[in-house]
Amino acid sequence: MAENKEELRKALLYQPKNGYDSIGQPDREAMESYSRDYKCFLDAAKTEREAVEETIALAKKAGFVAWEAGMTAKPGDRYYYNNRGKAILFVTVGKQPFEMGTRITAAHIDSPRLDLKPNPLYEDGELALFKTHYYGGIKKYQWPTVPLALHGVVAKKDGSVVPIVIGEDAEDPVFCISDLLVHLSGDQMRKTLADGIPGENLNVIVGSVPLAEDEGSDRIKVGVLQLLYQQYGITEEDFLSAELCLVPAMKARDVGLDRSLIGAYGHDDRVCAYAAFAPLLKQEIPEYSSVCILADKEEIGSEGVSGMQSHAFETFMEELCQAQSGSWRRCFANSICMSADVTNGFDPTYPEVSDKRNNARMNYGLALCKYTGARGKAGASDASAELVAGVRRILDDKKILWQMAELGKVDQGGGGTVAVYMANRNIDTLDAGVPVLSMHAPYELVSKLDCYMTYRAMEAFYQAE
Ligand code: MN
Ligand code: MN
Repeated sequence: MAENKEELRKALLYQPKNGYDSIGQPDREAMESYSRDYKCFLDAAKTEREAVEETIALAKKAGFVAWEAGMTAKPGDRYYYNNRGKAILFVTVGKQPFEMGTRITAAHIDSPRLDLKPNPLYEDGELALFKTHYYGGIKKYQWPTVPLALHGVVAKKDGSVVPIVIGEDAEDPVFCISDLLVHLSGDQMRKTLADGIPGENLNVIVGSVPLAEDEGSDRIKVGVLQLLYQQYGITEEDFLSAELCLVPAMKARDVGLDRSLIGAYGHDDRVCAYAAFAPLLKQEIPEYSSVCILADKEEIGSEGVSGMQSHAFETFMEELCQAQSGSWRRCFANSICMSADVTNGFDPTYPEVSDKRNNARMNYGLALCKYTGARGKAGASDASAELVAGVRRILDDKKILWQMAELGKVDQGGGGTVAVYMANRNIDTLDAGVPVLSMHAPYELVSKLDCYMTYRAMEAFYQAE
């Protein structure tokens, strides 16, 4: 009888398990190998531009070529479409025509950071500094006193574009924002975390040596400009047409005695971008075409030419469909999309913000989110029950570990992803991603098991029939 009750429980209850209780040695090895590749990708791609360059280089080796209108779209053709160097789309043409639908993954490759202002460089108190303007949602107090690297490009009037990366090589200098010493923080310590470090205090120290044998003003600033000119051929005015940002100079590395976590800057959302992109590199010809979009500007609303709201997506899809004399609108209507973006992992130090029964847990695998949004699901696309059931089937058939989650307690806050912009295009869309601890902090944590399961989920999704 007791045994029967046990069976009854097994049959009726939904009892998710820690992923480590169900994976075997081959999975563990594959997970380690995948994590190594992912960490290399993270270190090579700290900005959206670098992520575009890095994925194109990997894709070319796997046989992808740049798409141009008028090319053919036959089963097995592999193309990429570079949207202004800041967003990228990939397609592997499947056996079925586009009109029958595609399997789309959409992730973002921009991350919160500190952009330089148009007029960044100044001298004060005999130090040279850069003024910054933060990009995306950050807790400003987290950014002073961590080593920062300068990444980006300077576009000059003559049409040339100068790439800059300073602070990643072990021999490179890094940059740093100062914070007040605790001894003199009487006033500061009484402020809230939101006000403790004002945005205008995120000033980055870049130099302190005055120009030699000079009686003029701003000797330190001019000294810094001289170095920049010698190294990169740029002048102060060139900052006006630059996209330079400061990101944490730390490398991705294993975290924990058991090395089960990965600490890095920018897991959100390169952890899903890489998981969505990597399966394309060793894919057979799929039944339905695989489309992968790595978008920019998600952290500030997916606006602009390189964001997910941009019609660059329609342009690419329309051209592809035209190559098969098909309708792109019909293609959208029959397609399904995984909006691959991170969610919050349950943090035992801050349990009060989560509904334990409905929060993603580290090491429980890919987290599906039926809806995101804030308050009464505002801003969510809310995937249909039928779509969720279909994805359950795809994942369970391949024994991929996954969990269902929502981001924190009701009315505690909330967030959005690109899902709504895909769904607005008449594409059935479901959010799915890796749980993260300390999301948007200079150093975020994810679990290797969840990363690997997300990769396998995206792979299975592309193959789904
Ligand atoms: Mn994200
Ligand atoms: Mn984010």
